[in-house]
Amino acid sequence: MRLVSIIVPCYNEEKVLPLFYPEICKVADECAKRDCGFEFIFVNDGSSDGTLEVVKGFAASDERVRFVSFSRNFGKEAAMFAGLEASRGSMVAIMDADLQDPPSLIPEMIRILDEEPYDCVGSRRVTRKGEPPIRSLFARLFYKIMRKMSKTEIVDGARDFRMMKRPMVDAILSMREYNRFSKGIFSWVGFRTKWLEYENIERAAGETKWSFRKLLLYSIDGMVAFSTTPLAISSVLGLVFCAVSFIALIVVFVRQLIWHNSAYGWASAMCIVFFISGIQLFCIGILGQYLSKTYMEVKKRPIYVVAETNVQEKAS
Ligand code: UDP
Ligand code: MG
Repeated sequence: MRLVSIIVPCYNEEKVLPLFYPEICKVADECAKRDCGFEFIFVNDGSSDGTLEVVKGFAASDERVRFVSFSRNFGKEAAMFAGLEASRGSMVAIMDADLQDPPSLIPEMIRILDEEPYDCVGSRRVTRKGEPPIRSLFARLFYKIMRKMSKTEIVDGARDFRMMKRPMVDAILSMREYNRFSKGIFSWVGFRTKWLEYENIERAAGETKWSFRKLLLYSIDGMVAFSTTPLAISSVLGLVFCAVSFIALIVVFVRQLIWHNSAYGWASAMCIVFFISGIQLFCIGILGQYLSKTYMEVKKRPIYVVAETNVQEKAS
């Protein structure tokens, strides 16, 4: 019998877990036909509600349920990584607890990995129905900019909901970077991925954990982690402004020699000073972003800290 691991990052999901668990059990029963055993790994990402108690309740009556509980909120990226580390299955799926990732796709994913030459089945939503329009607009913009800036392909609308074979999971686990941007990591490790498309489904209960601010910061993380183009842009800007100032110098010099009237234009000079210093600060800011990420990486802090778990042995 083969083992399929289902990883579920949970942050304040006490409302939705009682809806999610029966659904995933149903899917597991359905897959028994295909000779698949299951393990469910719930990663409690420092929830402040009763998520951990709910998960422990599942674990008490179901030996397939394993859990890892963090000492505080480390973010979904850390939760996914912890789940992957704890997983033992030859196929591993990651899915949200809020039923936005339809569990009914799991049997289809297993079938594809069994029968077709793919290492990974990903899912992408083709609509963003039910999302605030301004958020969709910025999301689209982000993917557009990313495609231009990064050699790693970031697929528009790709969700973290995916099922992978063991070699791909091991490749992801070997990337121990602290600033994790999964959409980039999944794509960076390569392997053949098939995309299943579906319409956006709204959350079954509870609330989204992503504020606009969090998403914006996350997108900056993604750019810094998978592209150094902003650094190149700031160098080019520097060169361009050097060239412009050199030309301006010649113009002022010649004008003084011929007409002796270079000493005017305070207002325009001030505008230029402000503009250039703005650009300079912006470029220093870009540099700072990379520096701060590098700073966090060299500290080599653990990606997460476990407070409580029923996962004894580490998979790796
Ligand atoms: N999540 C998490 N840690 C966080 C934020 C979210 O583990 O800091 C989990 C959350 O419990 C859910 C999944 O990540 O299972 C996706 O979160 P959410 O549904 O809020 O995001 P959205 O679907 O709105 O993008
Ligand atoms: Mg969701």
